[in-house]
Amino acid sequence: MTSLRQQADLKPAYKAYVHLDRLPKNAPRFEMNEHGYPIMGPGELRCRMPGLERHICGDKFFGTWTLLDHCQNMHDAPKAHRPTTKHGKLSGAALTAAASM
Ligand SMILES: [Zn+2]
Repeated sequence: MTSLRQQADLKPAYKAYVHLDRLPKNAPRFEMNEHGYPIMGPGELRCRMPGLERHICGDKFFGTWTLLDHCQNMHDAPKAHRPTTKHGKLSGAALTAAASM
């Protein structure tokens, strides 16, 4: 869990991430949990699954929820192991729980 101070320090980096035209060539692929579901951080917007003709997919979405849909529909991430939601939004706790499943 990050403190409010740490979140404020991360804000400029997150803004830069949101406005990237594309992921850097050396961007890491998603790590997978033991069920084969990609582990995402809160606010993740870019697909880091392997691409068909590219090292990494790199598709951009407006929210983590649509990124999760994309991973299931385009990359066959197992729906049964998708992170749970609270009030229709992904929480950091849900993502952390999914990562430790
Ligand atoms: Zn993708």
